[in-house]
Order: sequence, then structure tokens, then C-alpha cells
Amino acid sequence: MRFKKLELACRCGYKILKYKKGGTGRWIKVHDKRVIEYYDEVFAMDMKKETGTDIYCSNCQKRLAQVQNLGGKFIAKINQGQVVVGKG
Ligand SMILES: [Zn+2]
Repeated sequence: MRFKKLELACRCGYKILKYKKGGTGRWIKVHDKRVIEYYDEVFAMDMKKETGTDIYCSNCQKRLAQVQNLGGKFIAKINQGQVVVGKG
């Protein structure tokens, strides 16, 4: 599988993480194992919390994602309206 390196940031400009995304579809979920680097440690910690946990931007406090359990693995579902995706 081919991977694309992408960067996830909040709309306020605050950088969240660098990621290795597979496939060509829209980026909807963050899987911990695909993260190359977390710029924001709060996001990294919140991703390991229980299902339903909202993850907020450390800078502007807007909601960036929500923790979901996908077959026993925790993932963060991205709040599309609040993030900006750039090249990693
Ligand atoms: Zn923000």
C-alpha cells in the first residue's frame, strides 16, 4: 500500500500531528500506529482515553476529534469542520 505524508492542524493554525495515510479517500480517522509524530502531546494522550472522549485544540479549545473504538483499537474521528490538512 502506498502512503501519503500529511499534516493535521487546527483551523487556528495550531499543528497537531504528522501522519502516514493509506488509500486515496478523505482523511476521516487517526490511527495511532500511523502517526509519524505528535506535535501536540495532549492530542496523543486524549487518543488513548475512553470512547466518546472529545479532543480539543490546546490553543483555541475548539473540538478537533472524538475517540472511537474500532474493533478494540482506539482511533480519533476527525471533526472535518475544524481541521486543516496539509502536506507533511
Ligand atoms: Zn485551534
